[in-house]
Amino acid sequence: MNSLIAVGSIAYDTLETPFGRRDRALGGSAVHFALAANLFTDVGVVGVVGDDFDGEPVLAERGIDTSGIQVVAGGATFAWEGRYGFDLNVAETLDTRLGVFEQFDPQLSAEQAKAPVLFLGNIVPDLQRSVRKQSQAGFVALDSMNLWIEIAKDSLIGAIGEVDCVILNDGEARQLTGESTLAKAARAISAHGPRIVVIKRGEYGAALFVDGAFFGVPGYPLEEVFDPTGAGDSFAGGFVGYLAATGQTEPDIAHLKRAVAYGSIVASFNVEEFGTERVQRLTRDEVETRVGEFHAMTSFDLG
Ligand code: AMP
Repeated sequence: MNSLIAVGSIAYDTLETPFGRRDRALGGSAVHFALAANLFTDVGVVGVVGDDFDGEPVLAERGIDTSGIQVVAGGATFAWEGRYGFDLNVAETLDTRLGVFEQFDPQLSAEQAKAPVLFLGNIVPDLQRSVRKQSQAGFVALDSMNLWIEIAKDSLIGAIGEVDCVILNDGEARQLTGESTLAKAARAISAHGPRIVVIKRGEYGAALFVDGAFFGVPGYPLEEVFDPTGAGDSFAGGFVGYLAATGQTEPDIAHLKRAVAYGSIVASFNVEEFGTERVQRLTRDEVETRVGEFHAMTSFDLG
């Protein structure tokens, strides 16, 4: 049995940043998440692709369980096209071709339903709720995006009310709650039910709100960033993957702080190359070395 199940999009991404372009790169929320989480624990992916999809060996080679990927004969894999300007924190969606994703109706097997940790990646909030209902996981985390806040806000709030942890970026947290400060936005999200709220702040880092406490880290200072696509999902993969490996379903604050550091560091590798290219060959040793540097950069004594 996998210790972590991730449901989300599996995609071909066409990406344009000021530093280059890639056509039909392997992507999607579940893919970025699983490649990151796999550095910490065994993870299974639940998603849908068309028979044009050839990315499965990339996942299987890393030891990711792909048995939950449904292949629809004659269908096209979800394709997303996005562009970034010099502010790499803002993605502009140029095109979305749903393909087989339009009919996606995720079903967990009896085995997948028993996995202790579940990640609900970026998909229609009603589907996140359906998967949540099927699962017996003791710890459930959810990610979303601006699109669902715009067109399915009530359903998203319903989904948020059924999970333990919400991971959003700062713009999404503000848009969802109408609050301008992160502290108020996090409190408003927690009021729907989740004990843990993580707010990603792109190159500026991440903030954790739990049990009335706050913890924050800056972004790891990179000299070069090529493509931010998947930074959010690889953060979530590092964060949730680290927690799943601890075996705690009610993680304490010490583990949550470390999980924020691991999420931030995996995301920092992700953005150094296009799409999933860097995380595909990332090793746990490289992560540990950079986490060590991050620790030295972010702690000080009071003299
Ligand atoms: P992020 O980690 O926030 O940069 O998410 C990037 C991933 O989101 C890309 O690999 C896209 O394939 C995926 N994506 C973009 N739009 C959607 C959507 N409407 N539903 C699901 N996934 C999406």
